[in-house]
Amino acid sequence: MGRPAPVAPTNRVRPAYGLVRSGRTRQTWQLPGLILRFLSVVPAAAPPAESDAVSQIPVWLDGGTVADGTGRDPFPNPGILTQDGRITQIGGTRPADAQVADCQGLTLTPGLIDAHVHMACSAFDPSLRYDVSVAEMAADMFVNCRQTLEGGFTTVRDTGGIDRGLADVVASGKMPGPRILQCGPVHSQTGGGGQMGAEWEPTELWDRHAIPGLVTWALLSDGPDELRKNVREGFRRGATFVKLLVTGAVVAISTQQPSDTQFTVDEIAVAVEEASAKGTYVTVHAHNNAGIRAAVRAGVRCVEHGSQVDEQTAALLSEHGVALVPTLSIMEQLVADPASMGLAPGYATRLSRFAQTARDAVLACRAAGVRVGLGSDLLGPDQRDRGRELVHRARLESPMQALESATRINAEIIGLGDDLGTIETGKIADIAGFAGDPLSDPGQFADRDRVVLVMQGGRLVKSGPQD
Ligand SMILES: [Zn+2]
Repeated sequence: MGRPAPVAPTNRVRPAYGLVRSGRTRQTWQLPGLILRFLSVVPAAAPPAESDAVSQIPVWLDGGTVADGTGRDPFPNPGILTQDGRITQIGGTRPADAQVADCQGLTLTPGLIDAHVHMACSAFDPSLRYDVSVAEMAADMFVNCRQTLEGGFTTVRDTGGIDRGLADVVASGKMPGPRILQCGPVHSQTGGGGQMGAEWEPTELWDRHAIPGLVTWALLSDGPDELRKNVREGFRRGATFVKLLVTGAVVAISTQQPSDTQFTVDEIAVAVEEASAKGTYVTVHAHNNAGIRAAVRAGVRCVEHGSQVDEQTAALLSEHGVALVPTLSIMEQLVADPASMGLAPGYATRLSRFAQTARDAVLACRAAGVRVGLGSDLLGPDQRDRGRELVHRARLESPMQALESATRINAEIIGLGDDLGTIETGKIADIAGFAGDPLSDPGQFADRDRVVLVMQGGRLVKSGPQD
């Protein structure tokens, strides 16, 4: 912990934008790296290491409007004090030694959380053909991390693609980025939704696409014993939760379909047992209802996509307390422009039928009382439009519901509800400031120029429009 964090571009405090009225040096803003490191590598339910916090100069966020993520109406900011990485006071008198960040005209929200990302997916098909160098993949990942943070997302849950190295590098402070919870390798049956590439590539070569410490794809398992071994292998490599593919996928080997069910209840239950033994949980990629029902019977805690969830399945999710993380952005972007994600045109055709059912599924789950989170599922080297997921959800439901899903509800789903997701005393000081009012004009959620303040763990990592 003794090594000071490097001064990365996003650490710059730019008085020119008027947000910080103190002449303190950059070093006063450095975050204790161990807080981030701890959060990113332990099982999701574990609390952060408060005792590892390095004393920080207190910061007073002055003025603006607060939308605190609890769902209550926005209110004028009475002043928010942050110290040692936490929100320590809301309202009252500003301490004399606190630095002041001028937030007049801003809407302050909790740091956004994207519960379904793929920070590593530089370009699926080309990288699987070795057309993309490891250096370029790594560069894309680091740029992706920086842009995600600059967009106001202070935490992400990576649902497949990165090996733990990326999370560790960001947590160490060497590169700017969001707090990353990751599952490491996802788990798929042979020829299932986690296997990509050409159908003529021998399956025994599949593992060669992994790059230890940087990129990891699916571990293939057939039968409970093999899956148990591979889930344990994922934990050995630092997974903080488990992800299984229990139906076919869109972006996967062409001989499987999203209408397929994959893994048996017995297989899924083994993964749930192993996750429970590690104090964490299983989430599942799933499109069709049969696959989702099997997963619920086996005891999973969360469903990704759920693009065909009907009323009966929504009721089942609600009954068992299983959350849904819908992913609308990928539907829209992939249908409109698959090339922007580095994918062939055929993927758009496969996905187009889900665009409407995915919206209906969100509404069915809301009506049934399911906890509905939010995930972008963006792929490819350019993932700057992560905030667009809130825009889609704001149009479908309401801007406030979109914000709640991206903050408080996502924090609960990823197991960090006690520490993240709302602006309340005692929470980790992750805060985003929008120049304007995204609750009145939700398009602002996707306008990164409007994200003029990002605080992560009590450290101002952005003050002003992005570079
Ligand atoms: Zn995904």
